[in-house]
Amino acid sequence: MNSKIWLSSPHMGGNEQKYVQEAFDTNWVAPLGPNVNGFEQDLENYIGEKSKVACLSSGTAALHLALILANVQQDDEVLCQSMTFSASANPIVYQKAKPVFIDSEEDTWNLCPLHLEAAIKDGIAKGKKPKAIIVVHLYGMPAKMDAILAIAQQYGVTLIEDAAEALGSSYKGQKCGTFGDFGILSFNGNKIITTSGGGALVCKTEASKQKAIFLATQARDNAPHYQHSEIGYNYRMSNIVAGIGRGQMEVLDKHISYRRNNNQFYQEIFKDVNGVTVFKETTNDFFSNHWLSCIVIDAAITGFSREDLRLHLEKENIESRPLWKPMHLQPVFNDYKYFGANIAENLFKKGLCLPSGSNLTDADRERIAKSIKNLL
Ligand SMILES: *Cc1c(COP(=O)(O)O)cnc(C)c1O
Repeated sequence: MNSKIWLSSPHMGGNEQKYVQEAFDTNWVAPLGPNVNGFEQDLENYIGEKSKVACLSSGTAALHLALILANVQQDDEVLCQSMTFSASANPIVYQKAKPVFIDSEEDTWNLCPLHLEAAIKDGIAKGKKPKAIIVVHLYGMPAKMDAILAIAQQYGVTLIEDAAEALGSSYKGQKCGTFGDFGILSFNGNKIITTSGGGALVCKTEASKQKAIFLATQARDNAPHYQHSEIGYNYRMSNIVAGIGRGQMEVLDKHISYRRNNNQFYQEIFKDVNGVTVFKETTNDFFSNHWLSCIVIDAAITGFSREDLRLHLEKENIESRPLWKPMHLQPVFNDYKYFGANIAENLFKKGLCLPSGSNLTDADRERIAKSIKNLL
């Protein structure tokens, strides 16, 4: 059997262990220390736009803190892109608030501005203005941030940007994660850079960043003893993990160019195939890191479905995966409202993520191409 080709696997640059060793050598084996500060600095320099970054234990923890900082409370409504990973929506429920799911639009597969505005108007008409909006940059593709920002500002609703999959992507030259009142990043094992597990909250002000760090370290008041006036969390990033992050930042741009090359590779394979579309930027306003390369298969034209292709690749030990199943179709979110049509649902039915790692070798790509061409 050929070795397994993964959808997206960790890809170390080389210097990660140097930073981790430094942490051991100086005994900074704790959820604070020079690597945490250094990684935050690296991220602030990279995404720019005067962002203040707090490194945390996960992207999910970052979303949870963003909702707390947005003052989301019990029974509040939070508008959330339906087409996403469940981690975008779960923290809404941690706050005992209610997700309201919104459909995607065709170009970016992300939050549809029209359905978003309809949901806000509906909330206002019912005397319940939504507390926050969660927009996602799916698979690295930037959402239509001009339109979404304008709506958030017009109605005065806090905007939270889930950029877990989009570190290094940009919209009109501005990095994803820096548009909203808050942005979140993830460094989980399969993301574009990984610290094994970890995340970050991107804030607009130093005060918000400090408040996030305060909440992430058990909300300890300024006193010699342990004094608490608020409920805290244990969400800070470890100094060991941050060392991996500093090493990964050195190779981030290289990883993005590899992933963008993967997207080109799939465009080449499918360029003359009727009924298969490779997901890509529609205009130069969008720059995707192409974290995962995805295709949409119209089985009525191709004669095979996304499931046929998935199983065909699996037989040859090549991993692929259906697109995210929309949240409004998930049993756990059955009871919540949904605004939209069936764009996300159709993408789920027809879409497949293909191997996209920055560490794919030429031999891997040859195997993938051969396997796909076999089915075609
Ligand atoms: C990975 C991911 C998250 C969660 O990040 P973790 O670090 O795994 O908690 C949130 N949203 C999206 C869209 C993701 O892909």
